[in-house]
Amino acid sequence: MWDEYDTRCIGCGRCNYSCPTCTCFSMQDIHYKENENMGERRRVWASCQVDGYTNIAGGHSFRQKQGQRMRFKTLHKIHDYKKRFGENMCVGCGRCDDMCPQYISISEAYEKVARAMREKDNEELISEVYEKVVKAMKEKREEE
Ligand code: SF4
Ligand code: SF4
Repeated sequence: MWDEYDTRCIGCGRCNYSCPTCTCFSMQDIHYKENENMGERRRVWASCQVDGYTNIAGGHSFRQKQGQRMRFKTLHKIHDYKKRFGENMCVGCGRCDDMCPQYISISEAYEKVARAMREKDNEELISEVYEKVVKAMKEKREEE
């Protein structure tokens, strides 16, 4: 179910950068041109949808395809985070949908997950909060 995103998603990261609940960052060392012995370490936004995010020493990358990255993001928002901290990460604001240049909708991805889980009679992922998130996003879309 995630393969369609291999070609649809271009890995620009706009969905993450616009999301009020995404908090991932990376570090960059900046060397000053004026004095190469001086510099600073900066914390910069990172995105799980952008190539290189899961690279580790030795050249391995855990998620190489956009579909794998989309799966990670989607489940992190409505399942993994909740499992650890008790609340869904996604608040249903719809900013990621508005920003995506490929018109990829995360609420549609949620609905795909829900459909797949229903087919398997697995209600674990279909929490009350998740239903509220999708409902809020649908209402927002209808208002626009
Ligand atoms: S709808 Fe959810 S995933 Fe998208 S920007 Fe809002 S909080 Fe983030
Ligand atoms: S904004 Fe859209 S195209 Fe860009 S990384 Fe997110 S889902 Fe992919």
